[in-house]
Amino acid sequence: MLALEIGELLLQLSRGLLAEREGDRLTSAQWLALRFFARANVFSRTLSGLAAYQATTRGTASQTIKLLERRGYLKREKSLYDGRSSILTITDKAQKRLVADPLASVFNDIDQLDPKKQELLRNILRGLVGQLGGDDRRQAVGSCRDCIFLLIRRLTAQGNNVQVNFFCKCVGMPVKECELGLLCTSFQARAAISAMSSDE
Ligand code: SF4
Repeated sequence: MLALEIGELLLQLSRGLLAEREGDRLTSAQWLALRFFARANVFSRTLSGLAAYQATTRGTASQTIKLLERRGYLKREKSLYDGRSSILTITDKAQKRLVADPLASVFNDIDQLDPKKQELLRNILRGLVGQLGGDDRRQAVGSCRDCIFLLIRRLTAQGNNVQVNFFCKCVGMPVKECELGLLCTSFQARAAISAMSSDE
């Protein structure tokens, strides 16, 4: 049965991606967290954001964060949006470390695929992640670019110049244009996943 074989390949792939690498001083969970904090938007770079992304408890996410902070890979600031939580940001040391990401070759291989295939693959995986977890369904992460919560306002300023503003209806905050492509844990895909039935 092909579906079973695909499922087994996905399992094999995920195990391989998460495998610990000999001589690497960061565990796969720490790498996962570093990549997340490097790619996530300001609303998601929190303890809860990491816990949701990794599908772990807040306690497990907290341990990973503390360790990365102790080792100088993450810094903590008070959130401007929520006084009770902190925003976590990667440091210069982490930036340098991420240049030598052990999964870089996998990401490069995906990048070599035709953009349409990349989109199809992304949509299929997004649909599969959304089906995990039974009643407590998981939400796949994504970015503002195809999120139902993004509101685009076009304002005509003086001299007929058009100014474009972006606003998130979920968090009730403006979003900077440079942040539209960042990961968000509150993301919800705009279109239903039609890729699951595509035969391209
Ligand atoms: S528009 Fe969607 S992806 Fe963007 S910040 Fe809001 S919830 Fe997140």
